[in-house]
Amino acid sequence: MKPFDKKIWLSSPTMHGDELKYMQEAYDTNWMTTAGSNLVEVEKILKDYMDMKEVVALSSGTSALHMAVKLAGIKRGEKVFCSTLTFSATVNPIVYEGGIPVFIDSEYDTWNMDPAALEKAFELYPEVRVVVLVHLYGVPAKMDEIKLICEKHGAILIEDAAESLGATYKGKQTGSFGKYSIISFNGNKIITGSSGGALLTNDIFSAHKTRKWSTQSREAAVWYQHEEIGYNYRMSNVIAGVVRGQFPYLENHIAQKKEIFNRYKEGLKDLPVSMNPYDELIVEPNFWLSCMMIKNEAFGKHVRSDKEALYVKEAGKTTPTEILEKLANINAEGRPIWKPMHLQPIFRMNPYVTRYGDGRAQTNAYLSEVVIDVSADIFNRGLCLPSDNKMTEAEQNIIIEMIRKCFE
Ligand SMILES: *Cc1c(COP(=O)(O)O)cnc(C)c1O
Repeated sequence: MKPFDKKIWLSSPTMHGDELKYMQEAYDTNWMTTAGSNLVEVEKILKDYMDMKEVVALSSGTSALHMAVKLAGIKRGEKVFCSTLTFSATVNPIVYEGGIPVFIDSEYDTWNMDPAALEKAFELYPEVRVVVLVHLYGVPAKMDEIKLICEKHGAILIEDAAESLGATYKGKQTGSFGKYSIISFNGNKIITGSSGGALLTNDIFSAHKTRKWSTQSREAAVWYQHEEIGYNYRMSNVIAGVVRGQFPYLENHIAQKKEIFNRYKEGLKDLPVSMNPYDELIVEPNFWLSCMMIKNEAFGKHVRSDKEALYVKEAGKTTPTEILEKLANINAEGRPIWKPMHLQPIFRMNPYVTRYGDGRAQTNAYLSEVVIDVSADIFNRGLCLPSDNKMTEAEQNIIIEMIRKCFE
C-alpha cells in the first residue's frame, strides 16, 4: 500500500479562524498576560456549558489537577485512590503533594475505574478520603456506582475529564460530577488552546483559593505579602483566545469523531475485535479517540519489555505492535493504550487493587480462564487508532483495509 503523502495523525489540532481573531484582540488591546477579556469569556462559556458554579482557567490540565489535589487537602503520606489505566498526568499531582497513589483496576464495559475494585479498595484501605477518576478516551465512567461508593465512604471525588469534554452520562456533562473536576486544552484534545486547562467546582471558596494559589498566592496588601505557597498556573489571555475561538466548534468536532468511530466499527465488524465500549442507553461519549481490542482467539504471541516489543506472526492472528507498525508504514499514527500506572517502574512500589483484592498479590496476569488484571489485559490487546477529525473517509478506508490485512 502506498503511504499517505500527508501524515494521518492520531489527533491533531483543528483550527477554524476565529482563534486568530481573539488572539489578535488580546494583542491589539495589549492584554498579553494572565488577565483579560478572553479569560473572562472562556470561564463564562465553560460555566454555562458545564453547568458549574465556578470555573478557573489554568495553564494546563495537570496544573488544574494539582490545584484539585491541594483543595482536597492531601497530606504527605496519605493514600489516594486513582484509576490505573490513564495518562500519568492524572497521577503525578497526587505525588507533588506527597500523597501515595493506590491504583484501581478497570472494568471491561467502559475501560474506566471498576466500581467493584473501588469497593474492594475501601475494604483494604478504609482510611482513604480522596478518589481520582478518569473518563478514558472520552467514554464516561460508571458514575452512579462510583458516586454511591464515594458517598458511602465519605470520600471526595476528583474527576479528570481531560479527555472527555462534551461527553455526557445520563445527560450530565463529565467534569460536573466531582467535588473538583478538571478539563484540558492540550494540543491533541477534542478542542485546544495549544495548551491550557480548567478547574471546575460548585464550591465558591475552593474557586477563590485556586485563583489565589494559581497567581502566586498574594495577600490583599499593597506590597507582595504571602501567607501561603503560590504557583504560576493561570491561563494566558492569548491561550484563552484560542480556546474561545475553538469552543463553538466543540459539537462539530464531536460529531466528526463519532463518524470516525462508527466507520471503524462498521469497517471492522466482521473481524475478531471490539471497539472501546460504551452503553449507548446511558452515555454519549465525545469519541475523542477510537480504540480497538483484539479478541483472545486472534491475539498473537506478543511480549513487551520496558522499552521494546516483539511478536510472532501467525496466520489469522495479530498484535497491537503489528498493527501500529503497519499503520506507521502507510504514514498513519496509532498509539498503544495508556500503559497502566501500576505497571510503570516509577510506581512499582504502589498498591494496586482489582475486584479480586490486592493486585500485587496476584502472581500472574491470568488465573485459569478468569482475567484478574483487566487494565493490563486492555493494554496488552488494545490500541488507539488514527482518530484525527481531518482524516477523510477515503483515507480511513485505507487504514481499515490495512488493519484487516493484519488478521490474514
Ligand atoms: C491530557 C491529559 C491530562 C493533562 O492535561 P494537560 O493539559 O496536558 O496538562 C490529564 N489527564 C488525562 C487523562 C489526559 O489525557
